[in-house]
Amino acid sequence: MTEKDCNDYRCPMHGGLKTRGAVKEGVVKNAKSKKTIVVEIPMLRRVAKYERFEKRRSKIHAHVPECLLGKVLVGSKVRIDECRKLSKTKAFVVTKVLE
Ligand SMILES: [Zn+2]
Repeated sequence: MTEKDCNDYRCPMHGGLKTRGAVKEGVVKNAKSKKTIVVEIPMLRRVAKYERFEKRRSKIHAHVPECLLGKVLVGSKVRIDECRKLSKTKAFVVTKVLE
């Protein structure tokens, strides 16, 4: 990890951002914005009536700290941690690129 260039105060590793709450893993679906990505989280939900599971997915907007810019591409698997609200739609930050 390149720590030297990270001046992002919204970075959990080098800035002042604290993470708490949920930790999720998903696949990056959209990386068009500068410091924001959209992560798709797959999950299973039980349907009692049919005693089966249905596949569900949710999209979560997450902040990309400066030290991870360029490493987070569409299709890469990432871990995101919940943090305080960073914007109207962002309350998660990328903490690790898994693949
Ligand atoms: Zn950083």
